[in-house]
Amino acid sequence: MIGSPVASELLSKINERRVLEFVQRNGPASRAVMARGSGMSAPTVSKAVASLIRNGFLEETEASEAGFGRPGKLLQLSEHKANVLGVVIDADTCWIGSARLDGAVAEEQSISFRTPKSYDGLLQAVINGLGEITGQVKDDLSERFRGVGLSVPGLFNSRVGETVMSPNLHLLDGQRLASDLSIEIGLQCIALQESHALCVGERMYGAARGMNDFAMLDVSTGLGLGIVSGGHLLTGNSGMAGELGHITVVPDGQRCGCGNRGCLETVATDTAFARLISKELGRKVGVQEALAALAVNGTEKVIEQTVDYLAIAVATVINIFNPATLFLHGQLMNSDPAIFKRVMRQAKKRTLSPSFKDCRILQSQGNKRLGAVAGIIDHLANELAPAFATIDNGNAELS
Ligand SMILES: [Zn+2]
Repeated sequence: MIGSPVASELLSKINERRVLEFVQRNGPASRAVMARGSGMSAPTVSKAVASLIRNGFLEETEASEAGFGRPGKLLQLSEHKANVLGVVIDADTCWIGSARLDGAVAEEQSISFRTPKSYDGLLQAVINGLGEITGQVKDDLSERFRGVGLSVPGLFNSRVGETVMSPNLHLLDGQRLASDLSIEIGLQCIALQESHALCVGERMYGAARGMNDFAMLDVSTGLGLGIVSGGHLLTGNSGMAGELGHITVVPDGQRCGCGNRGCLETVATDTAFARLISKELGRKVGVQEALAALAVNGTEKVIEQTVDYLAIAVATVINIFNPATLFLHGQLMNSDPAIFKRVMRQAKKRTLSPSFKDCRILQSQGNKRLGAVAGIIDHLANELAPAFATIDNGNAELS
């Protein structure tokens, strides 16, 4: 195939992706710096840059590279055309924001709103929110934005882009939110299951940069799990792998959103913790209020029970997947280092000793917002050229 027009076109696109990723990672750079940093030849870089400018990914700035010799103009991500939008759908609150292609979220251009009660209401609220933060009517969005990434909860069939069942937000059941949104706003929209989005975000912009083997355990609203093994996100047959939250740990326990009883999700999440604190206080409180109540009159029984089940979740992930690193995402464990340590002590007791020793456990740095944004940025990069060619960022010349 080498030498054929198809191969030549593919190699050009691979080089473009490498140049774009260089600017995404390192910020504005001259062509010479890109060539030195990426190990590609100057003509190869120039050709890739020209195409990326033509397609609105990069733009030349007035600033030049400091130093000796003929100063080279710096190239940066196009401010007007190289932007994306992120949407996080959650059981209580949704978020919409814009970001650059390097993943920098413009917090001043973001909004949060209570999750509507119906699917049509949700779709309309997202469309309205996108208009509000961009100041543009939906038909003009494609002038500045390349796409929308959505983080969605529940079981998501990635083959057809459909939420099959969302135990904590049933209005999504059987719906194809990304597809419906795309029809409405005329922009490509990509949905990722929220735990998978957390993995992609952590790997692109968080503590998992460069890691090919890690797990992400989300114990916030529901209990979700994402696994990256050998550099690949484990999706299962149709994208529904990792539903650890719905294994039974309390036979005849609390009814779960999935219809079963006593699922791990009902006892090992921030939501479960808030429910137990609510019982103690005699009134319904959210996670933040539950944490505040804990700080004032720490309820040992509640902490002990939640810590125990969190430890079971951690031990299960390590025993089954043997990850090099396990990231934990949840407010309760982030709120107090002492609680995190207690979970670790319990988890150590419940995990096979060699597997526990082999695994680093860290708190996640990313969040679902970054996950949504990373989802669409990753998709755009894959559209430009397949990922397999860029995993090795060594000095192999592709021209
Ligand atoms: Zn369940």
